[in-house]
Amino acid sequence: MKLAYEEMLPHEINAVLRECPLAYLVWGSHEWHGVHNAVGLDTIKAYRMTLDLCRETGGVVLPPVYCGYQTMKPWARCRHTLEFSKDLVTRYVFEHLENLYDEGFKAMVVVMGHYGGKHVEAVKAGVAQFSERHRYPKVLAITDYEPASWIQVKGGDHAGRNETSLMLHYRPDLVDLSRLPEGELDGKREGCSVDARDASAEHGALLARTFVEQAAPKVRELLEAALRDWPAIVSTGD
Ligand SMILES: [Zn+2]
Repeated sequence: MKLAYEEMLPHEINAVLRECPLAYLVWGSHEWHGVHNAVGLDTIKAYRMTLDLCRETGGVVLPPVYCGYQTMKPWARCRHTLEFSKDLVTRYVFEHLENLYDEGFKAMVVVMGHYGGKHVEAVKAGVAQFSERHRYPKVLAITDYEPASWIQVKGGDHAGRNETSLMLHYRPDLVDLSRLPEGELDGKREGCSVDARDASAEHGALLARTFVEQAAPKVRELLEAALRDWPAIVSTGD
C-alpha cells in the first residue's frame, strides 16, 4: 500500500480522496543533534513515525518539510544547522493546508518533529490562519512526543535518550554512539539535552508504538467528524 503522496499516480490519489481523505504533513528541520546523530533527525524520525500512523489510519503522507525556526543555531551557534524565519514557517504551513484543502482533503494532521517552543508557535500560527478562513476541515497539529504524553510516557528531548532511541529503531545506520565521550558530557559540545548513551532500539520501538497507539484514535475521530459534518458544510455553501 502506497502512503507517500509524491509517489502516487493521479488515480491512486483519487482513490484516497474517496476512501480516506486524510493528509499528514510532517514538519522537521536540519539541526545539529549531537556528535552521534544525523542532522536530519527531527524530520527523519517524525516522518517514519507518521508513516507508521498512516498505515494504521489510512490517508497519505506528504513529503516531509525541512524548515526549522528557533533551531540550535541562533542561540547555541551550532553549525550544520539551517535556520529559517518564523514568518516563512507560518506561511509555508498555511499554504500547504490551503493546497490540501483545495485538493479535497477533509482532515489534516501536522506532525512536528522539531519542537522548540517558538517553532511550535510558528507552525500553530499557520494552522490558526487557515482555521480562521475555513471552519472545516479541522486540523490537528501535534509534536511527535505529545500522544505518548497523554498516557504519561515521556518523550521529546534534544538528541538525548528518546530521540536517539527512535533513530536506533528506524535508522541505526544514521547513529554512532561511539562518538559520545566517556565520563561527563558537555551539553553544548555534545549537543544533547540529556544523556543519550543509554539509548536503545527497544526504547525507540516503545516510543514509536505508543505514538501510533495514542494518536490513531484521535486522528480517526478528526476524520469521522469531518466526514459527518461535510455535507452540511457544502449545503450551506461554506
Ligand atoms: Zn530534535
